[in-house]
Amino acid sequence: MVSLGEYDVGIIGGGIAGIYAGYELSKLNPSLKVILIEQGENIHRRSCPIVAHKTKECISCASCAIMRGFGGAGAYSDGKYNFTTEFGGWLRDYLPEEEIMELIHYVDSVNVGFGATEVVYSTQSAEATALEKRALENDLHLLQAKVKHLGTENNLNILKNIYEYLKDKITLVFNTAVTEIKTASDGYLLETSGGQVRCRYLVAAPGRSGAEWFSAQCNKLGLDIINNQVDIGVRVELPAKVFQHITDVVYESKLVYRTKQYGDMVRTFCMNPYGHVVTENVDGLMTVNGHSYSNPALRSENTNFALLVSNRFTVPFKEPYKYGKHIASLSNMLGGGVLVQRFGDLVKGARTNEHRLSQSFVKPTLNATPGDLSLVLPKRHMDNIIEMIYALDKIAPGTANYDTLLYGVEVKFYSSRPQLTPSLETNLPNFYAIGDGAGITRGLAQAAASGVIAARSIAGKVKGV
Ligand SMILES: Cc1cc2nc3c(=O)[nH]c(=O)nc-3n(C[C@H](O)[C@H](O)[C@H](O)COP(=O)(O)OP(=O)(O)OC[C@H]3O[C@@H](n4cnc5c(N)ncnc54)[C@H](O)[C@@H]3O)c2cc1C
Repeated sequence: MVSLGEYDVGIIGGGIAGIYAGYELSKLNPSLKVILIEQGENIHRRSCPIVAHKTKECISCASCAIMRGFGGAGAYSDGKYNFTTEFGGWLRDYLPEEEIMELIHYVDSVNVGFGATEVVYSTQSAEATALEKRALENDLHLLQAKVKHLGTENNLNILKNIYEYLKDKITLVFNTAVTEIKTASDGYLLETSGGQVRCRYLVAAPGRSGAEWFSAQCNKLGLDIINNQVDIGVRVELPAKVFQHITDVVYESKLVYRTKQYGDMVRTFCMNPYGHVVTENVDGLMTVNGHSYSNPALRSENTNFALLVSNRFTVPFKEPYKYGKHIASLSNMLGGGVLVQRFGDLVKGARTNEHRLSQSFVKPTLNATPGDLSLVLPKRHMDNIIEMIYALDKIAPGTANYDTLLYGVEVKFYSSRPQLTPSLETNLPNFYAIGDGAGITRGLAQAAASGVIAARSIAGKVKGV
């Protein structure tokens, strides 16, 4: 068997969590031999055919360049960096709030060093307070958080700068998948598609794309895991002017609503003013997402955001991932990918077809298949989403217009979570699990912070602290 060598620390996954683990280790202890193994391409070679050649169909590349490669799933995001512990992860389950906020600010300062903007949108202004009040009057709850919008193009440049910095400090290996994690007398043995790697410390940061694989590895290694939730919904697209009075103030509004009919929570997620709706390939299934550029020349006239309903299962079913995938597969079966429907058609019980879509005042930014989302989403989800749209219409009149577009489905998978210490170490010594793949984060800020936590713990152990 080919050997890729022996290292002090092995990092699985080159998303923001793995990157920050590598960055912090190289800074705290430059003499440590660290290897980061990534299944996808390096940042300069990542390219999705849909984006590069503006093709409609996903050709299901062996490794999806949107989800995999240096920068992970966040590389083509527009980098909305949230300064909060209220959403974007569950690090509060492990560390005190102040410590997490310090880490989030620390990561931001590193990002700024690599070219991130210093402009922050705050919810602490008088206008934001007025918005919060107006929302409350309509039973909508605006979550408070400062947010930075790095912008799709800048986010990528920052990652390129980090890559250039890191490439001489730690070993970066691309197009190499870790296939198996084994315990060894002196640490861990990783079987990879490029050969074996031995390491004393192991940091697993496989992201959502590696979550199923990682959960199988945890089972095999005897690590207990807890199942998380799955969030299912649609992406809404409407004229930017409808939400302008909100997005100009808080940029991204996180609004939560409890529906009257079922008592379910529905929330807005990932709001993209003047943005674009995009497809996302999750293990061959096409789901929907969105982003926006910070360069005004690249902006669209629409704003998009997700409306998500959370599902947690108790007994006997415990595979939320499969449930989400099953629903996404229905839209793929009916539309060959993502479906789009006008809100008015949905309420009327009519399918949106090419003709009806061509008459829409809202011009879609994604070339999706016109169809009928009520044939895809369970009735309960559909009712919840419709009720939420009418609630939003009260604070952003025009949301419930006939031509508001709904794309489906948007699914947010959360990985199963192994038991972890406050340093994010599993029950196996010197084996850490971080980021979205460990089920403890679901956003850039907390994912990066989790990498710093693991790195500091390892550096401390090496130093004998
Ligand atoms: C389109 C889109 C837009 C988003 N926008 C935002 C946003 O604006 N703000 C925000 O906070 N969050 C956003 N997110 C979420 C954010 O990107 C994630 O929370 C973040 O990327 C998680 O980082 P991670 O390092 O844990 O995992 P990932 O970024 O998923 O990285 C994991 C990496 O591990 C690699 N990997 C997996 N398994 C293996 C294996 N066995 N061997 C080798 N390598 C492996 C994968 O190839 C991948 O590159 C967005 C996500 C998407 C998809």
